[in-house]
Amino acid sequence: MKFGTKAIHAGQEPDPTTGAIMTPIYQTSTYWQKSPGDNKGFEYSRGTNPTRKALESCLAALENAKFGLAFSSGMGATDAVIKLLAPGDEVITGNDLYGGSYRIFTKIFSNYGIKFHFIDMSDSNNVKNYVNDHTKLIWIETPTNPTMQIVDISAVAAIAKENDILLAVDNTFASPYLQNPIDLGADIVMHSVTKYLGGHSDVVMGALMLNDEDLYKRLWFIYNACGATPGPMDSFLVLRGLKTLHLRMKAHCENGRQIAEFLKTHPKVEKIYWPGFTDHPNHAIAKKQMRDFGGMISITLKGADLQETYRIASSFNVFSLAESLGGVESLINHPVSMTHGSIPKAERDKVGVTDNLLRLSVGVEDIDDLLDDLKQALS
Ligand SMILES: *Cc1c(COP(=O)(O)O)cnc(C)c1O
Repeated sequence: MKFGTKAIHAGQEPDPTTGAIMTPIYQTSTYWQKSPGDNKGFEYSRGTNPTRKALESCLAALENAKFGLAFSSGMGATDAVIKLLAPGDEVITGNDLYGGSYRIFTKIFSNYGIKFHFIDMSDSNNVKNYVNDHTKLIWIETPTNPTMQIVDISAVAAIAKENDILLAVDNTFASPYLQNPIDLGADIVMHSVTKYLGGHSDVVMGALMLNDEDLYKRLWFIYNACGATPGPMDSFLVLRGLKTLHLRMKAHCENGRQIAEFLKTHPKVEKIYWPGFTDHPNHAIAKKQMRDFGGMISITLKGADLQETYRIASSFNVFSLAESLGGVESLINHPVSMTHGSIPKAERDKVGVTDNLLRLSVGVEDIDDLLDDLKQALS
């Protein structure tokens, strides 16, 4: 099946009791057993629930994976992956990460004896310099948040395979419509489903997709034992959101392209970060591993201090100033004071997450209204 068909149908059959086309919301915590152990494969909804199961099959299909696991947030999914590790293990990851990922690595798991190397991954060869006998996991984010660096997934996968290291990719920014890391050699794909997959800014959820059955069993154990699993209502909302993923992504990419081109030559814009430009340092890799370039764009404002950046960030009418991304509505974000506040200033400045940086999540509204809004806000 092709992507759009999977988005609408994968994992979903008409309900056997009523014929309902839409997967019912099985709002139940527990399941009847005829005699102990004699059940229909469902015992308790922390571990399994039919609505969530349909969603997990659909999520797996979209990443060309055998297995899917849904979590109650993206961070819950990340947490489960790091819990595969033990004290003394080391992780290689990027130096421009989602703030919450940086926070859980440095403020939670560092206390449990796991060591993280935050490195520039835009040159994949750099990864080799940090591999040693303790390296158990490589964690990639690409495109990165918010400076849109691109990491060569196949090249890093080759290094991981050669050294018997697990490779996990946070594919939130690209969505499975634009990029499928498992096809490029990754072991685990992680998503903040809250973003493009849910797509309507009404659910917080995470997911892992993978192929290896042993690894799936280990992750399922953590998922059930630690219990960060989502409820049936949220699972239903995401199943519903997924049905238009391909349509939404097409529109995000088209609007994103027009806005990136408009901003590139705007006199108030100092720098623009978007992987679709041929002068983006890793444009060739983006072109190779992504089907299009998405609707996430970051800019720095020429000569703007923090005050002026705040003023501009607050002067939009169609874009809303808010955290998060990937919904149908356009959002503007000030990473330094919002999503990336948990990263120390010195670290932020090193990768270009400066006070005058704004991040746009371009939605699927009419492009003329979005361009007009940008024109007035930047005037
Ligand atoms: C939002 C986000 C996360 C965290 O997901 P939640 O659903 O908010 O817990 C992780 N990675 C990236 C790239 C994100 O944008």
